[in-house]
Amino acid sequence: MQVIELSHHIGGELVAGEAQLAQYNPADATDLKVAIPVADAALVAKAVASAEEAFGRFRDQGIEARSDALARVASLINAQSDELARLIARETGKTLGDAKGEVGRAARIFSFFAGEALRIVGERLESTRNGAMVEIEYAPKGVIGQITPWNFPIAIPAWKIAPALAFGNTVVWKPSELSSATGAALMAIIAKAGVMPGAVNMVLGAGETGAAICSHPGVDALSFTGSVATGKKVRMAAAERGVAVQTEMGGVNALLVLKDCDLNSAVETALNGAFLAAGQRCTATSRIIVEEAIADAFVERLSLRISEHRLGDPLDTGTHIGPLASKGQKELISRQSAAMERHPGAQLVFGGSAEALPECFFAPTLFDHAKATDPIAQEEIFGPVAAVFRVADYEAGLAMVNDSRFGLSAGLCTGSLKYSEHFKRYARAGMLMINLPTAGIDYHVPFGGVGASSYGAREQGRAAKAFYTHTRTTYLKA
Ligand code: ADP
Repeated sequence: MQVIELSHHIGGELVAGEAQLAQYNPADATDLKVAIPVADAALVAKAVASAEEAFGRFRDQGIEARSDALARVASLINAQSDELARLIARETGKTLGDAKGEVGRAARIFSFFAGEALRIVGERLESTRNGAMVEIEYAPKGVIGQITPWNFPIAIPAWKIAPALAFGNTVVWKPSELSSATGAALMAIIAKAGVMPGAVNMVLGAGETGAAICSHPGVDALSFTGSVATGKKVRMAAAERGVAVQTEMGGVNALLVLKDCDLNSAVETALNGAFLAAGQRCTATSRIIVEEAIADAFVERLSLRISEHRLGDPLDTGTHIGPLASKGQKELISRQSAAMERHPGAQLVFGGSAEALPECFFAPTLFDHAKATDPIAQEEIFGPVAAVFRVADYEAGLAMVNDSRFGLSAGLCTGSLKYSEHFKRYARAGMLMINLPTAGIDYHVPFGGVGASSYGAREQGRAAKAFYTHTRTTYLKA
């Protein structure tokens, strides 16, 4: 078995510590062990002090130096793409193909923000007081605390770290305890690319380390992606200290399939959204809402397509669906699926909790005849589990799409311009997908939802500027 011993990374130095947490390859626990030290509040304080100390120098290094450094990170990620993808597959269970796609995406995010660093546009206006001028500038916020999950172990850190640096901030970052080796690999690339020491500091650990970042008075803003419960804690900590916060959490995303759709492509859309990446995407489809007139044909075709998908070793290129990320996730998903199986009315069509699979594998699971009162209708299941809800028509379907406290991504399969225009206007979600899976998003446009899914300014694309800068208004009179 390979053992990877990790260190924190503070002020350009590796800081060793006694390993207190471990992550194993979820497809084969005998293959890889990641040994993780845990940063306590004192070490987090050191990381914050390092980011504070670097802040002024980093900001004043200027936009070209920042842009060049981000571009070098992108090139190094691409140069190490194969080994990064293998590490992601072994550490989190993501299939090699998905992991490669994610690594490429992370590189593109750094490239995108290398460009954005050069385009921090302000405004200059005439003052209402004659003879005076007003300038509006976008200045860095300072030290950004960033807490990331395991499901996109390099892309999510990229879409937080790259804009933070592009706009002149420094960072204290904690990757998930389930993807710390990937985090450390990205951190090593950031250092090798010559990003100023102290501009990005990585502390390892779990919830207590994350909480220490959130409550440290030197952290000027908090960006978090993860569960609903933790997101709330992060927001409470930010409110307590009065600092900016953005939290990206889950969704119980719906795909509405109308009878005028292209059935085969709607099935592929549902299959992709619900089951790829083992359903471990916050934009994954868990509610497939289908017009009754085509529901039998839809469920039959979807079941057939699920059966053609191979569950297996993420490193094997023939594998479509890998394991869940950890034993804990498997227990959770098994419990949630079992609760759904017990619920009166809902019919298990495929998979289910009774399938005894090794390690962290969980079979793609499909329910039919689900109801709005079923657990899957309201609570996120972060695994390859989805349910078909049958509805009489578009109006009933739209009402069901909107019957959720979440609102991250919502999809519609239809051939009708009338319905797609109506859906765009009335579906309650931050991201709308017409004839596309609810999951699978671009990196150059805003990402985020409404309701319990997201809080604060949008991430990604040019929208990232709102979170990573503060607005400075200067009045000038000669
Ligand atoms: P998930 O189970 O989907 O990974 P979590 O919300 O538990 O979601 O974890 C997301 C990230 O938040 C991880 O890096 C985790 O270590 C961190 N985290 C967990 N608890 C806290 C907390 N109380 N404060 C700050 N960060 C936390």
